Amino acid sequence: MSVRGRGEESWPRPDRCRIISVANQKGGVGKTTTTVNIAASLAMHGNRVLVVDLDPQGNASTALGMERSTDSRSIYHCLVEDEELRDLARPVPDIPNLWCVPATIDLAGAEIELVSLVARESRLKRAFAAYDYSDLDYILIDCPPSLGLLTVNAMVACEEVLIPIQCEYYALEGLGQLLRNVELVKSHLNPHLAISTILLTMYDGRTRLAAQVADEVRSHFGDLVLNTMVPRSVRVSEAPSYGQSVMTYDPGSTGAVAYMEAAREIAYRAKAVVGS
Ligand code: ADP
Ligand code: MG
Repeated sequence: MSVRGRGEESWPRPDRCRIISVANQKGGVGKTTTTVNIAASLAMHGNRVLVVDLDPQGNASTALGMERSTDSRSIYHCLVEDEELRDLARPVPDIPNLWCVPATIDLAGAEIELVSLVARESRLKRAFAAYDYSDLDYILIDCPPSLGLLTVNAMVACEEVLIPIQCEYYALEGLGQLLRNVELVKSHLNPHLAISTILLTMYDGRTRLAAQVADEVRSHFGDLVLNTMVPRSVRVSEAPSYGQSVMTYDPGSTGAVAYMEAAREIAYRAKAVVGS
């Protein structure tokens, strides 16, 4: 595999914007890495993509080169203070067609502040409704490592959930709870919600355990699991400290190639979904 010619090839664009939450209440499974690199890959192949950083830690914002300052506006101001998304989305440096609504540490208080607001589960959905995203192809929402109100807002506002699963012991623990939450949101708040994609991350082909976990996930989730698995790659973990995705930091690395392949699968599945 090679990333030569990247950017030359255009992938299909969905008929309408696909809004995808990247969720798993476990921390450190690759949600942010997946959000950032899938978004960058899609943008590099002719799609227009917005990343919404919904994690108070703001790791996706950092990895996309959003500068941090305490007074900068963020998704917090949208959720809690009704600011418009269009005023908060900023272009990502060096990657045309990619925008980010950053998170700031204010967001850490949002779980609590949201509790007393009207329609607290639908704040993000409402913000999307007021935002003309007809010229976007994808909105990717990077969820925090919990199943609290922020993640519920993401699930109410999207149609698809992408679950990254780290290929290690305990990988499947907690997954039942995540699936039950998706079902709850689907039955009470968002009938259009579905788990569309599972991505196996941090795969270490040298261990039997990783292969066993991958087999187990595939036998449980079948076609939802992307064929591509993302290997452990030092370059992937280095990229954020340079304010970059691995797609720009080291496009030839195994991690970048894998994320590009995974994004390609997602883009081509869109056609299948729309056409089915
Ligand atoms: P989450 O958002 O689920 O908490 P992250 O995407 O932040 O997870 O990943 C957790 C840590 O693992 C980060 O330090 C990240 O750089 C690292 N990481 C993620 N994917 C890979 C990978 N494929 N290879 C090596 N390190 C990775
Ligand atoms: Mg994260």
